Amino acid sequence: MRKNTFSTKGLTKVYGEGRSAVHALRGVDLVIPDGEIVVLLGPSGSGKSTLLNIIGGLDRATEGEVFFQDQNLGDMTDSQLTRYRRDHVGFVFQFYNLMPSLTARENVELVTEIALDPMGADEALAMVGLSKRVDHFPAQLSGGEQQRVAIARAVAKKPTVLFCDEPTGALDSTTGRAVLQVLKDVNETLGATVLIVTHAASQAAMADRVIHFADGRIREIIVNATKSPPEEIQW
Ligand code: ADP
Ligand code: MG
Repeated sequence: MRKNTFSTKGLTKVYGEGRSAVHALRGVDLVIPDGEIVVLLGPSGSGKSTLLNIIGGLDRATEGEVFFQDQNLGDMTDSQLTRYRRDHVGFVFQFYNLMPSLTARENVELVTEIALDPMGADEALAMVGLSKRVDHFPAQLSGGEQQRVAIARAVAKKPTVLFCDEPTGALDSTTGRAVLQVLKDVNETLGATVLIVTHAASQAAMADRVIHFADGRIREIIVNATKSPPEEIQW
């Protein structure tokens, strides 16, 4: 039977307090089934990154619950949360976050050295089409190639879930589509649940499930009957 990678109930996040308090999440109820590609869409400032950071174990909710499989992240100690991230979660951010003094292979090895059952760094780089660039430094790679190194680094641990926060935000259309294709490949070959945060509505077409987000709340959830290939996405 299919299960849920995540479920949340009444998830709330308030930054600061008193008059300067920011209500970033205002009660989010959500399920994310195993193995889906989920696109989280919403305007800037609507709370998308906040939600991603809480279900990714980088931050904690103010109120409400978030479950990874049957584990309540809110009940975990900081070191349990770190282990959850290390063992199960891959992150991809808008600006790659590669170590400039390390080659592509060495950047991926940062993760494979501490993961439980990783693939090899070269295998991960092959998966994103970078076999010929393993010895290059980030400065010797294009933006799209750097993002693919970041994806290789995130997937080398064979994560249960891959979180991508505006992964194509800094890329042109051709490169961006190629990066989305890599995310789709990862979803299909590893079976990883993939959650893509974006403000680009056209990317919804490649998702199994689209969550429309606004002002800290879910506005609408759409389950797509068919998915478009990333190469057909308008930019
Ligand atoms: P999005 O990713 O959709 O652009 P965010 O989750 O980053 O939105 O932010 C939601 C709201 O929370 C915004 O008003 C933002 O300014 C605020 N916010 C985000 N992070 C912090 C923080 N660490 N401290 C205070 N306010 C924050
Ligand atoms: Mg954001």
